[in-house]
Amino acid sequence: MEKCLNPADPNRCQGIFASGQCAYLAIEGSKHCARHGGNQVKIQEDQKNLRLYRLHLHQERLDTLADHTKAKSLREELAILRMTLEALINDCGDTKALVMAHNRISDLVVKIEKVTSSCQRLEFKIGDTLDKNMIIQFANEVIEIISKYILKYLPDEVANEVLGKIGDDLMLSLESLSPLNGKENA
Ligand SMILES: [Zn+2]
Repeated sequence: MEKCLNPADPNRCQGIFASGQCAYLAIEGSKHCARHGGNQVKIQEDQKNLRLYRLHLHQERLDTLADHTKAKSLREELAILRMTLEALINDCGDTKALVMAHNRISDLVVKIEKVTSSCQRLEFKIGDTLDKNMIIQFANEVIEIISKYILKYLPDEVANEVLGKIGDDLMLSLESLSPLNGKENA
């Protein structure tokens, strides 16, 4: 708590004691000092940020679940299309019937091909997202561990540069490991 030197200071705490207006400076972003509840603003702000962060994590989880649901319904659609194709071909008793059904058969084949590739793309995306989150979490923990020692033993100006370089190298390494980027470069 900091005393307010100038009684007319606009940042003076607005709280009132029996003896008059509070003599301390208000906390930044509030009209009151800590004793008069000024830190509540900061606490509320922190809680709000935490809630937003949790919502964000929740949203990412929901997105992944939605992808799983979508992949599942695509796989079901694919199974139905394949069964329809099989039934259609089985119903054609001879070559003549097969030729007659040609358009319906090729429509089904095109649909099966489209659904199959959407399904594969989605399943690949799901796998990639899960792995990426885990790897990024691991990289963050590695940086945290390294920072602890670098900040302890190196002077600040060198420490920040070294940490920046380690971070850049780790990001490059992560990018080269990603199945989405790696194949063209290999
Ligand atoms: Zn006060």
